[in-house]
Amino acid sequence: MSNGLEDAVMDMLVAAQEPEDYIGEDGLLYCGKCRTPKEAYFADGQNFMGRDRHPAECDCRRKERLRREKEEAEQKHADTVERLKQSGFTDPAIKDWTFANDSGKCPQMEKAHFYVEHWETMRAENIGYLLWGNVGTGKSYFADCVANALMEREIPVCMTNFAAVLNDLFTYAAGRNEYIARLCSYPLLIIDDFGMERGTEYGLEQVYNVIDSRYRSKKPLIATTNLTLEQMRHPEDAPHARIYDRLLEMCVPVCFTGGDFRKAAAQQKMECLKKLMEQ
Ligand SMILES: [Zn+2]
Repeated sequence: MSNGLEDAVMDMLVAAQEPEDYIGEDGLLYCGKCRTPKEAYFADGQNFMGRDRHPAECDCRRKERLRREKEEAEQKHADTVERLKQSGFTDPAIKDWTFANDSGKCPQMEKAHFYVEHWETMRAENIGYLLWGNVGTGKSYFADCVANALMEREIPVCMTNFAAVLNDLFTYAAGRNEYIARLCSYPLLIIDDFGMERGTEYGLEQVYNVIDSRYRSKKPLIATTNLTLEQMRHPEDAPHARIYDRLLEMCVPVCFTGGDFRKAAAQQKMECLKKLMEQ
């Protein structure tokens, strides 16, 4: 063994001594701060390179290491979640739409909680939701909360809409297959505002392409739409029919009724302003 290596091994075998440390009744070196041993004997009186003991972690060192490891793990988790949100949302503003910020006014929200709590089953059984109903009833908020909650668990989610998808497919026409493959690679795909895109032949073909690819990937899809279930069950023509058929096969319909939250919020602001002006 070369001297350099021997020194390195000896360093590992000898506990670093601080001025306040002391030798305990058992002959081991004790930490002067936490008064627990900084050394331990080898088992069964064994020796190694002439030493009967090796360094050990005293309590305060262990606490410090655990604290540091926890901090590093939390930072790593936060970085991962941030990266997922950066890449998963078309609109960065919605990364704050979370269960924690929920007003509790939307009765369907318990289905969002249910979905997240049973994600492993939803993923395995390929179960999605079709959130349908009037404008402003909280469908997008519902979908965003699911996306955010899963991302918090480090599960990649892509939330987009067909206006953005069609635009991307048109822009990157050459890499169309890779683009669709990427959409299908996410464990959960959420398509907001489904059915708002106008039905040109090209557009409908691409929409079908994406929905069908997702269907064949055997991964779940959540879609929100202002269309009624009736409209989707009895579409105007064959190109729409094959899209809606696929969608209804993949997604469990969840009906959103009730008040228009956006109108209610606007009304509240109006009343608040009125009161302020009366003062
Ligand atoms: Zn200590």
